[in-house]
Amino acid sequence: MKHEYMFSIWVLSLMTVLLVLTTQIAGQGGGTPQATGAPRGQAGGRGQRGAPVIITIHAARVLDGKGNVIPDGVVTVQGNRITAVGRRTADMTSFTYDLGDSTVLPGMIDVHVHLNWYFGENGKYGQGTNPAGWVAKAVQENASSTLMGGFTTVQSLGWAQDKQLRDAIAAGLIVGPRLLSSLDQIQPGNYTPEELRERVRRDKANGADVIKLFASGSIRDGGKMNVKPEQIEAVCGEAKVQGLRTLVHAHDPASIIASVNAGCSQIEHGLFANDEAIAAMKKANVYFDPNIGLVLQNYIENKDKYMGSGNFNAEGFGSMVKALPLMPAMFKKAVAAGLRIPMGTDAVAGAHGQNAREIIARVAAGQKPMDAIMGATSIAAESLNLGTTIGTLAPNYEADIVAVPGDPTKDIAVLRNVKFVMKGGQVYKK
Ligand SMILES: [Zn+2]
Repeated sequence: MKHEYMFSIWVLSLMTVLLVLTTQIAGQGGGTPQATGAPRGQAGGRGQRGAPVIITIHAARVLDGKGNVIPDGVVTVQGNRITAVGRRTADMTSFTYDLGDSTVLPGMIDVHVHLNWYFGENGKYGQGTNPAGWVAKAVQENASSTLMGGFTTVQSLGWAQDKQLRDAIAAGLIVGPRLLSSLDQIQPGNYTPEELRERVRRDKANGADVIKLFASGSIRDGGKMNVKPEQIEAVCGEAKVQGLRTLVHAHDPASIIASVNAGCSQIEHGLFANDEAIAAMKKANVYFDPNIGLVLQNYIENKDKYMGSGNFNAEGFGSMVKALPLMPAMFKKAVAAGLRIPMGTDAVAGAHGQNAREIIARVAAGQKPMDAIMGATSIAAESLNLGTTIGTLAPNYEADIVAVPGDPTKDIAVLRNVKFVMKGGQVYKK
């Protein structure tokens, strides 16, 4: 698509400009020694000898992301890493950031977003043309508001240009969360198993972090299974061979059970998951990411902006309104069954930055606050195979740290009020 091409050009030219600038600035440095061997994304400068400065963050509570609370806690950061987490000791009298009656927790993780969904100049989704630079600006704002909302890592499902975006964020050229992406979304249609295997290998070669597969229709089209089991087996089987996880869009029990049987890693949505489908997910120990608190609500809140694009018609909105009351009941069953439930929103245009609404909805539907918080931290990290680097506050983890006022285990709604954001040791909000 033309606007995607423009986005790519825009990122490349931005990277070129910054590279030139960096080179010029370095050239003017008159031989000033540069710090070497230190990781990217340093916070708060360095000591005179080039060692990263030690940063301390103190708050009334520290949640480690694994279910533990440290009262009067201190997190110590050096460079991009956490070096210590523990109770304040008598010799600790001042802190780089003293956050008072706040709660510090790991940077939150959303395992299902679409940063490339935006409203156009005419205010509508997917209709009309936009001036040059519109897409780049919109995507950049989506990335930035997601990070400022306390989400330091997201998994984006389905956009080829995530590749440039992922690189630009990692290089520090665009403000946004760490990005993992499928770069593609596979709708099996009439493709043969061998063609689907080839598609997975192509995604892998192209740099995908994960495979996204559709095994059922959209909720606006009824959500029924629309693929053959052997197509699912081809995609999830080949992904496994290639060392990739597979996330499957599956609403009805048939599509969920077929995906579980095919060895896929994670089920998305699952609106019509019944006892049998939930039992199948439990038995296979797959991750289940129901999106009950943001995506449909956001479509309905922005009905005028979406109406007229594809299946966003009167019937589609009717299906979504009917689906709303089903979600808490389905979610309750999933929690009762003890499924592993990472936090994903399916955030689209209008929803970026409001990701924590999903966590709040999960608690409203009966999940314990600490479990819901773990879903957005350590469990989400495990679902990404990043359980030893992010999603937990402990020594050697990435310094992805956020803070909210008050105590989210007592009032989960404070997660929408993120006051402090650090990613990889760099402070973005304070
Ligand atoms: Zn999605």
